[in-house]
Amino acid sequence: MPRRRKKFPCGHQGYGQVCHYCAQLIQAKALEVAEREQARLARQEWEATFAKDVVDLQGLPKWVVLKARQVIAELLAGADYRQFKGKRLNHDRRIISIPLSYDYRLICYDTGDRIEPRSVLSHEAYNVKKPLA
Ligand SMILES: [Zn+2]
Repeated sequence: MPRRRKKFPCGHQGYGQVCHYCAQLIQAKALEVAEREQARLARQEWEATFAKDVVDLQGLPKWVVLKARQVIAELLAGADYRQFKGKRLNHDRRIISIPLSYDYRLICYDTGDRIEPRSVLSHEAYNVKKPLA
């Protein structure tokens, strides 16, 4: 005996106990909610990582943040800034500018016995105001 299409309370027509169209919608919706929640957690986790930075890296593109952290970690471990193509500024030799990319510079300050990472500046910000480390 052929199955009969029936009309579900939602208004759709189909076969079986539940409306497959609506079941699919509900599943897609649940997936969307789960994905959004996952994204929210990932964002929260990412924001929490900034608390451990010695330099404020919030608001920078993610890859710049990661690059900065890598360079900072190596500097704090004793690496030479010249290894990262860092240069001392002419107007203040205690300030060292290390390129992270074409657009971003890590600004460090030479206290005399160590190199302290101070800030990350975009190329524009860097050119407008000379960094005061
Ligand atoms: Zn339905």
